[in-house]
Amino acid sequence: MKISIIGIGSVGSAVATAVANTGLAHEIVLFDRDGIRARAAAEDLGHAAAFSYDIKITAVNTYRAIRGSDIVIIAAGANQKPGQTRTDLLHANAAVISDIVPRVMANVDSKTVRLIIVTNPLDVMVMLAQRISKLPPSRVIGTGTMLDSARLRTILSRQLSVSTQSINAYVLGEHGDSSMIVWSSACVGGIDLGAFCRQTKISLPQTTRRTIEHRVHNAAYEIIQGRGATWDGIAGAVADLVRCIVNDERRILTVSTVDGVGTKSLAMSLPRIVGASGVVATLMPRMDAPESASLRRSARIIRRNFDLL
Ligand code: NAD
Repeated sequence: MKISIIGIGSVGSAVATAVANTGLAHEIVLFDRDGIRARAAAEDLGHAAAFSYDIKITAVNTYRAIRGSDIVIIAAGANQKPGQTRTDLLHANAAVISDIVPRVMANVDSKTVRLIIVTNPLDVMVMLAQRISKLPPSRVIGTGTMLDSARLRTILSRQLSVSTQSINAYVLGEHGDSSMIVWSSACVGGIDLGAFCRQTKISLPQTTRRTIEHRVHNAAYEIIQGRGATWDGIAGAVADLVRCIVNDERRILTVSTVDGVGTKSLAMSLPRIVGASGVVATLMPRMDAPESASLRRSARIIRRNFDLL
């Protein structure tokens, strides 16, 4: 399995480490327009790999070197500075995606390659990458709200004193400020959240749910304030997505891919079955009326941002 990563900043280098640690790639290729940065990352990672798996890790200065890639991960572009929203990156990162995707496509097998998009604003970048690459939507996969859903499950896990692995709770819609939590279909070990709370005598009133929503929405802003950027969470999400694809696991992940055609086409996060061929199926969880309205509002925001390009 040959995996190429384009953009070796905070996120790209953390993604490279996390993907290397899956042990699933025999070769990892790093490309950044800052070649010195990519070379330094490849050196450092190569040394780390000596303690785990024998992987060929190289930094390259031409796209020709990504030939034969099974998966290409795009993590290049401007990141949020304190106080900036993801949407503030729209025009700068549309230019980055428009620069990278044609070069990638000129050097991969369009019949098999899977593109993973990480660059923000995520959903609009997925739409743009899919349009430029002309790949089937199922093989242009944005990490979407995988990270947001992980943040929700982490907070709930602490609140409910139960493993994150036993919690099925989704954040859907935009990977951005309009994302929404589907409380109606949240469950723990197959038991709906309300029943779980009653049986375990844990109270999760509306005020607590609103606080949780606020924490999920603001997690990135808080991390950026304290650390300058976020990288470990997203690296974990990308490695998990790579694992799901490479092993054809068919797990349900809240990734973002383009649904629909023409002016009705839109990428946003929904629960989707992911396997070796990319997104295999899209599911719609049970939602109450206000949740459905929130999801529609999130979709409108993504479409409006795409139309700004
Ligand atoms: P960074 O500034 O640390 O790194 C960006 C890298 O991209 C730099 O090394 C730069 O040289 C490279 N780059 C820029 N334009 C390029 C081009 N045209 N070709 C090749 N390389 C290019 O930024 P970061 O913190 O690593 O963030 C990268 C992106 O990931 C941002 O858009 C950020 O918002 C996004 N991000 C997404 C998620 C998510 O959940 N999807 C989470 C965190 C960050």
